[in-house]
Amino acid sequence: MTLSTENQKMSAKYVLVAAAWPYANGDLHLGQIAGCYLPADIYARYHRMKGNHTLMVSGSDSHGTPVTVRAEQEGVEPTDIFKKYHESFLDTFQRFGISFDLFTHTDTDNHADVTHDIFLKLLENDYLYEAEQTLLYDASTERFLPDRYVEGECPHCNFDRARGDQCDNCGRTLDALELINPRSKLSNSEPEPRKTSHHFLRLSAFNEQLTKWIESKEQWRPAVRNTGSLHRQQTINVATT
Ligand SMILES: [Zn+2]
Repeated sequence: MTLSTENQKMSAKYVLVAAAWPYANGDLHLGQIAGCYLPADIYARYHRMKGNHTLMVSGSDSHGTPVTVRAEQEGVEPTDIFKKYHESFLDTFQRFGISFDLFTHTDTDNHADVTHDIFLKLLENDYLYEAEQTLLYDASTERFLPDRYVEGECPHCNFDRARGDQCDNCGRTLDALELINPRSKLSNSEPEPRKTSHHFLRLSAFNEQLTKWIESKEQWRPAVRNTGSLHRQQTINVATT
């Protein structure tokens, strides 16, 4: 080994490229490739060429409402949907030459162990608390509805097909409970507000630490750093699902 490759090896950095985990409920579309996996792949290839120890990872999200809703629509089990689209993702990535070091899924024993461990450690250290929240409930399918599974009239511009999270006509962000004449996208029936209990992550406890860390990332674009928004939102905690 020459001196320069020796030096290069000594100065090699460890780079983790963690791309978003796609819901396994439909084929990948061009926007996902162009907006997420291709830029991550370019970044990972660049660091590998520089001699850095690079690990590019992601996986299929086999859990959650989008997967169960698709399974219901097709009259099959959620695992059938997840397997079908996980295979499709692997095939797509291979054909596009996206160079993952590991692309797994949320149904592995390892994933269950790690998530349980994180949850229990947060609970033991008092970073989780339980609180009630009012959400829209679809009695005919016996399910609480995520915002995007509700449609109704926008309270600002009266557009009649506003989604529970946003109105595509006036662009405003909405809370599903604000919609006039809400309809469930699962059954087309009118959902009712019901109280439900959730665990919340006490994100505010990490505010100072996170702000300091983000502000130290001078190479990030200002819109990505955006610590002003972190200051404004410091009292807002996050529901864990
Ligand atoms: Zn609107």
